[in-house]
Amino acid sequence: MGFSTLALHCGTKDKSFGATLPPIYQVSAFSHESMEDLEMVFQGKSSGFAYTRIGNPTVAAFEQRINALEHGNGAVATSSGMAAITQQFLNILSSGDEIIASTGLYGGTIQLFSLLVNLGIKVHYVSDFSIKNLENIFETTANSDKIKAIFAETISNPSLQILDIKATANFAHSKNIPLIIDNTTATPYLVNPIDLGSDIVIHSSSKYINGSSDAVSGVIIDSCKFKWNFEKYPSLAKFKQFGIYANLVKLRKDTVASIGGCLSPLNAYLNTIGLETLSLRIEKICDNAYQLAKFLSQIHGIEVNYPLLDEDSSTRKILVKEQLKGKAGGILTLRAGSKKKAFKIINSLKIATIASNIGDIR
Ligand SMILES: *Cc1c(COP(=O)(O)O)cnc(C)c1O
Repeated sequence: MGFSTLALHCGTKDKSFGATLPPIYQVSAFSHESMEDLEMVFQGKSSGFAYTRIGNPTVAAFEQRINALEHGNGAVATSSGMAAITQQFLNILSSGDEIIASTGLYGGTIQLFSLLVNLGIKVHYVSDFSIKNLENIFETTANSDKIKAIFAETISNPSLQILDIKATANFAHSKNIPLIIDNTTATPYLVNPIDLGSDIVIHSSSKYINGSSDAVSGVIIDSCKFKWNFEKYPSLAKFKQFGIYANLVKLRKDTVASIGGCLSPLNAYLNTIGLETLSLRIEKICDNAYQLAKFLSQIHGIEVNYPLLDEDSSTRKILVKEQLKGKAGGILTLRAGSKKKAFKIINSLKIATIASNIGDIR
């Protein structure tokens, strides 16, 4: 099935009345015929639901749809993109661990990582993801066995660096660590990081996936291809019996269930609808952004950052062509020379909304 067909038909079959959209199961708990039945659900031996913090049919419909679109092997939805990143890292890291992350990360993520420092988790920030530079970090780190993951955004928000996913994944695997990608800004329509070797994909589904700015949410999609070494990742050891599924099972049964950063059924429903039009919106959004970038770049005194405006030899422009179907996403940034000039430009806009968000259809 093609992308748009999957986006319309996957994960929404309602067996009760044939509703064409997933019913909104806006409930906290699910009743069962007997205590034995409920016990089976809790033990994961039957497929029902017990309590919405752990699982809910409306949330599951969204998880199945985004999992199919990202070519994953299972997904867990969360209350926000930040909750997805937090819960994914707490799922695999222990105090004393280190990760490599991009300097171009979304500001909220950098703020989160400064909190993780208090839990004894160190972040090596890099702007240059060349193999030489990554190798250098391993060589200069006192105990490089402590480096447990590489984390970056496909198109960084808002600096617009573009990651070579395949090369970075190959490097991560040569060090026996997973590559975790935040694919919020590219969306599965432009690239499936899992097909290029990424092990885990995270989204702030508040943005393009939802599309209408009516729900904050996040999701973690696991390829279930990474072979966890349970001595290197002791926090997953309790789930050793699940092998390559350990991260996914622990997320659902342990980390998200215990921390409680779960997605509400109504927000999951809104995201499922959002996904139905993702391909159409991203085509239009990328086209609009490129037209706008070209137009603005002709105005004297404004400097525009948009990858397709680069010289043909620019690495990120080549990556747009080879990795992102030639489309550079919906974000562009402007430099006007001073805060005063920047504010004046923004305040003069007639149609655009002044808001701190991306991916809103308006
Ligand atoms: C918005 C955003 C986040 C955080 O997501 P929320 O849903 O706002 O918590 C993470 N990463 C990127 C790239 C984002 O744009």
